[in-house]
Amino acid sequence: MSTSGDISNSSTTECGDIGGGDNDEKMSTSYEQKSKISGGESSSSLDIDTGSSGKAVSDIDIISEQLSDSIIADNTNTNADSVGKKSISDFEELLFRDPPPNEDCPVCMQPMPYHSGVGGVEKIYMACCGKTFCRGCSLAESKEMKKGSMKPWCSFCRVPLCSEKETVERYERRTSVDDANAFYHLGYAYSNGNWGKRQNHMKAIELWKRGAELGSCNANACLAYAYMHGEGVEEDHNEAAYYYKLAAIGGHEVARHILGILEEVNGNFDRAMKHYIIGARSGDDKSLKETGKGYKYGLVTKDEYASTLRAHKECQDRMKSAQREEAANLKRTRN
Ligand SMILES: [Zn+2]
Ligand SMILES: [Zn+2]
Repeated sequence: MSTSGDISNSSTTECGDIGGGDNDEKMSTSYEQKSKISGGESSSSLDIDTGSSGKAVSDIDIISEQLSDSIIADNTNTNADSVGKKSISDFEELLFRDPPPNEDCPVCMQPMPYHSGVGGVEKIYMACCGKTFCRGCSLAESKEMKKGSMKPWCSFCRVPLCSEKETVERYERRTSVDDANAFYHLGYAYSNGNWGKRQNHMKAIELWKRGAELGSCNANACLAYAYMHGEGVEEDHNEAAYYYKLAAIGGHEVARHILGILEEVNGNFDRAMKHYIIGARSGDDKSLKETGKGYKYGLVTKDEYASTLRAHKECQDRMKSAQREEAANLKRTRN
């Protein structure tokens, strides 16, 4: 394996796809029904965005076809397993609290989202020191090194970057010091069958469970996805909802959005809007879009929508920088 010459490509980004896509026509049908119930505007003349088709929409299809109404509404779930987790009712009150404050990038000191990509801010985990920093910083560092024809190193600890195989070995060393992010990223390597690891969903689950115990909301989100799709575990939508809730409580913006979708599919529109508002205030565009639809259909008040818009903008503004935008543009052109 070759040593990567570009920092921005040389370490894993956060788990990228856990099924948090746009809410599509199915959702607008829900709004229409609710609108009729609540005496809101008719949907026929409103401009409803249709989401992109793909994995996320198929998730919604699966959810609406297979989930029972009780999955989210059941707050008396006592399906505690061997990790000694709490029942959903134990943390129900935590669910709609404000999420924890964002962590700052240790290089530029600007806040970062919990889920890479929210607000256009990508994150990179470095197995050398266990730090996660923004892709804007890694790009800036990479450009400086290229000027001096220097070998790439970690923007934080200055340890030279290494091959994929050695990077995974660094993950493994980080797990020995209980680094929650190392468990999460190593689990992702097993789940995808990359970074020199043969695909092994059960191993991924084992690693994510430990990462989740150590406090990684990304590991909780990956567990939720695995239970939703039966990857490495028996498909269990109650468990999926449980882990999405844990991830959302930990600040995971995409998990928050998915909880909104799940509530909506079950007809729990008030709870869905609460999730979308929290997600939007955390800078998530998709949750803001759903909040806007909720406003159109009378599910969200004008004041609530206005304050959500302001909070969403303030959150994204705090995370914005020229080098982060440059990194986002570079990623777009590469894709
Ligand atoms: Zn940074
Ligand atoms: Zn480092």
